[in-house]
Amino acid sequence: MEKLLISACFLEKGYKYNGLDNKLEIIDKLKEKYELIMVCPEVFGGLNTPRIPAERIENKVINQEGLDVTNNYIEGAIKSLNILKANSIKKALLKAKSPSCGYKKIYDGSFSHKLIDGNGVFVDMLLENNVEIYTEDTVLELL
Ligand code: SF4
Repeated sequence: MEKLLISACFLEKGYKYNGLDNKLEIIDKLKEKYELIMVCPEVFGGLNTPRIPAERIENKVINQEGLDVTNNYIEGAIKSLNILKANSIKKALLKAKSPSCGYKKIYDGSFSHKLIDGNGVFVDMLLENNVEIYTEDTVLELL
């Protein structure tokens, strides 16, 4: 069965910044076709759940209290990338707009829900490694 890397918050609580989840209705259908390999770059980078929301500003990630959490994001992205490589995974289903997992659009760093063109820290690494990225908006293309 093909392996699919997936944002952990699509599957369960304990990862999303506010302690909730982003459960996807379509998970059972995905499980029929793929072996799901779960990663959460923010938790893997040592951040707690719940945690203060953070947004990307160019090459840094700053939380809403002004703390620079870039190193946590990079460390967690590298750990997640290593899991992808160890499993020879070519496709990833990731949570849109996240400063780690967002693809093509992310929040602008002002914590005012404004979106700009850009990717999360983890997605930038995946694109450098030629991984195909899907989000909840394009998940049907995986079935
Ligand atoms: Fe979900 Fe990715 Fe944020 Fe983890 S880093 S909570 S997997 S969006």
